[in-house]
Amino acid sequence: FNIPVPVNEPVLQYAKGSKERDLLKAALEKVYATTLDIPMFIGAEEVRTGDTGSIRPPHAHQKVIANFHNGDKSHVEKAISEALKAKENWENMSWEHRAAIFLRAADLIAGKYRYDLNAATMAGQSKNAYQAEIDSACELIDFLRFNVKYMTEIYQQQPPVSPAGSWNRVEQRPLEGFVFALTPFNFTAIAGNLPASVALMGNVVVWKPADTQIYAAQLIMRIFLEAGLPAGVINLIYGDGPNIGEVIFKHPDFAGIHFTGSTKVFQEIWKTIGENIHLYKTYPRIVGETGGKDFILVHASADVKAASTAIARGAFEYQGQKCSAASRVYVSKSVWPALKEFLIKDVASFKMGPVEDFSNFINAVIDEKSFDKLAKAIDDAKQANGVEIIAGGHYDKSVGYFIEPTILVTQDPHYSSMSEELFGPVLTIYVFDDEQFDETLDLIDQTSAYALTGAILANDRYAIEKAAYKLRNAAGNFYINDKCTGAVVGQQPFGGARASGTNDKAGSMINLLRWVSPRTIKETF
Ligand code: GLU
Repeated sequence: FNIPVPVNEPVLQYAKGSKERDLLKAALEKVYATTLDIPMFIGAEEVRTGDTGSIRPPHAHQKVIANFHNGDKSHVEKAISEALKAKENWENMSWEHRAAIFLRAADLIAGKYRYDLNAATMAGQSKNAYQAEIDSACELIDFLRFNVKYMTEIYQQQPPVSPAGSWNRVEQRPLEGFVFALTPFNFTAIAGNLPASVALMGNVVVWKPADTQIYAAQLIMRIFLEAGLPAGVINLIYGDGPNIGEVIFKHPDFAGIHFTGSTKVFQEIWKTIGENIHLYKTYPRIVGETGGKDFILVHASADVKAASTAIARGAFEYQGQKCSAASRVYVSKSVWPALKEFLIKDVASFKMGPVEDFSNFINAVIDEKSFDKLAKAIDDAKQANGVEIIAGGHYDKSVGYFIEPTILVTQDPHYSSMSEELFGPVLTIYVFDDEQFDETLDLIDQTSAYALTGAILANDRYAIEKAAYKLRNAAGNFYINDKCTGAVVGQQPFGGARASGTNDKAGSMINLLRWVSPRTIKETF
């Protein structure tokens, strides 16, 4: 039994006058027209506590599109016990049947729910139509389908050698306990994939999404259930993070965490797990993708126009709120004047505004906290010596959390925004002397506390080879002559090391292997 290699889900373009554009607009209007009441999903129950939080589009924060019901510690306990109750049947179900559920979910997203899920992502997370399509449609569908392929490869590995008189075999068991999935606001695909990939391997899950992503998360949950996911296999809860953590990380059946979010939170969680290690039945699996301070390096031999496109898109698509987004750029002096001109033009062509106007490339940043942090970084740059703002620099939160795509040029390669993550549309550029290429490679490596993505634009093959070697630990995803965002499932397994995570590559067999606990059996005849 085998399944064919999946084909990546084609990206719809939503061109003017197309039927798909009308359908997406209608789905978006539906989101705005109602105030959805969003329960938690615990076991077979939809739980409404009355302790609600509201969801507001970041580009129109006076509007409420949904209210969600927060849980307290008792709901976390209930979610864990429902997960553990569902465990035996789920892990004993043959893997073909588990796979069928997630393949069906992928088909439901590709068809019936594509526009609704994209609209949820657009309104809830302020993504333009194209960014929503490549995330909540294509990437999520690809995660679900490719993971089934990788799963079949894990379950069908070559058995160990069995000398005459014996039979050796290895069973890929799920983990003993439940897994906690803690998911981010910036990708609906990641939010869906973190619980789904764990469950696919026969595990049960408690899932807590970021508050700002709940609108899309609850729809994914409903889709999983419609696809046939048994009650209790994934339990979706909301509420105060530390409060939830109190219960999760003290539970003897805690068997792992699948995380995407900030480095700070991940490190806190790791510490808490360490402090509680004596409480657990088994060493928990800790899998996390965290921050980034991703670089683009432009060599003197680069195609300058292509470099400008790579930088502008890599830095500013989805307002720079991808872990993979370019946020520091190193440019060879001889190409800087031409590149600067292209870049200013490229960025000026980006329209900013709400998602319902499809011509807006830039929408709002996720919330007020993020807005304030970015506004402060821009103000600091205005005051700093040796820093020039060559594009953007304005911001306004009266209607939505809008920050213009902003480019700083610094004379100091150690200026704060060359190494500290801002997670927004603020890019910092440093121009180096052409003869200082080798030193610049050392500088990039030394200032890469994070190591998620990086790119070089160059035509000189020696330069490319040198950069690929010297920066081998500075980026888990390295791009040659391309932007550093937009990894495609099945094509570029995604993840980084250093402060960027455990590098267990989302959308790969490596990741799925973290969710099994093999048992070796030797039988003697
Ligand atoms: N996989 C995404 C990309 O390559 C980034 C994921 C993230 O931001 O966590 O752009």
